Amino acid sequence: MPFLTPDDYLSSVLVIEPRELYDRGFRVVLLDVDNTLVSRETKVLSPEVIAWISKLKKQGLKLCLVSNNWHKTVFKYAAELGIPIVYKAMKPMPFAFIRGAKKAGIIRGEKVVVVGDQIVTDVCGAHLFGAYAILVRPLAVKDLWYTLLFRKLEGWLLKDVKPRK
Ligand SMILES: [Mg+2]
Repeated sequence: MPFLTPDDYLSSVLVIEPRELYDRGFRVVLLDVDNTLVSRETKVLSPEVIAWISKLKKQGLKLCLVSNNWHKTVFKYAAELGIPIVYKAMKPMPFAFIRGAKKAGIIRGEKVVVVGDQIVTDVCGAHLFGAYAILVRPLAVKDLWYTLLFRKLEGWLLKDVKPRK
């Protein structure tokens, strides 16, 4: 199922090289928040993730957070990282990615990459929007009950698939 198949599957955002994304032609990075950048267990941004975001910026990549979370707490993370956010995104609907790309400052024709920990919302939504989709392993096992249901489907889709690095 091409819509549900990630273009790349990695162990964490931290193994994504900003330079490599840039060299491959990507200019806009749309990032999921929960269990991609922030663990649902600790609920804090780690110094490593903060440093990685700053590397993306230094590389000249344009960023926006795109989160299905409807709690205002996600604004705290956006403020801490100094990047815009679209919340209540209703992924996999592609509209929030369109808004996110605009908020990031996309120029027509620029290539977009979406990074997230869920196939059903992040990967499927990225593909509906026409972006490249990087799936990362969730930062925590803890998640919302319906996300855990989707994880069962993901487990089946990812059986025998290991993160590339
Ligand atoms: Mg997530």
